[in-house]
Amino acid sequence: MRIVIKVGTSTLTHASGRLNIRHMEEFCKVLSDLKNEGHEIIVVSSGAIGMGIGKLSLKKRPEDIPTRQAAAAVGQCELMYIYDKLFSEYNHVVAQLLITNYVVHNEQMHINFKNTINRLLEMDVIPIINENDTVATEEIGIGDNDTLAAIVTTCADAELLVLLSDIDGLYTADPHRCKDAELIREIDTLSDDIIALAGGKGSENGTGGMVTKLQAAKICMDDGRDMIITNGANPAILYDIIEGKAVGSRFIGKK
Ligand code: GLU
Repeated sequence: MRIVIKVGTSTLTHASGRLNIRHMEEFCKVLSDLKNEGHEIIVVSSGAIGMGIGKLSLKKRPEDIPTRQAAAAVGQCELMYIYDKLFSEYNHVVAQLLITNYVVHNEQMHINFKNTINRLLEMDVIPIINENDTVATEEIGIGDNDTLAAIVTTCADAELLVLLSDIDGLYTADPHRCKDAELIREIDTLSDDIIALAGGKGSENGTGGMVTKLQAAKICMDDGRDMIITNGANPAILYDIIEGKAVGSRFIGKK
């Protein structure tokens, strides 16, 4: 199975911006095992800005673009260092791919990106993708890694996208405020009612929220691919997903 797994800042780092060692170790361990089982794994990882904030001891997420981009440059380096270290423990090789919206709009870049991903997978490497935050401004930016992960899923011709988040999936109401909120297990149409369930931005140091997750779902579903939103606090949940068990909220691709 070729699968894209997107992991958010809130899973990789603590609210302080410092590394969540337990989550990250567990994440790399499970992915290494799935790779050993024969699956093709592509990671879309956020956390560059979040980790940069931690490493530079900034008090909060910077408001201005140059400081945010500087934080991303520092954090991306740290992020890849940790991935390389953890995956190396299980004998896996990682590659860093930083992309912008040009990959979607420029035909040649699209082809290059696709070819590189395919070659890396043939070489048994785990591609780790993020937006090139140091150059991406609003005009050329994809903006959030949920959308980026959906684009990667279609480009790489993957069967499934899994968004690992700090929430179990899409609920009938905000589960933090409403104790009767129920997890929606399966969504086959992005009706107005479903879209209305998405609130605003998610965590403090990340960019995504339910809105961007539903945008990602639309890209995948329209292209005939499934997407799952589930909680990244327990990466072992990926085993259940591969075994086809009902986990989180599954968005069914158009057949
Ligand atoms: N590219 C950003 C980062 O690595 C994150 C974007 C997002 O959280 O969606 O920090």
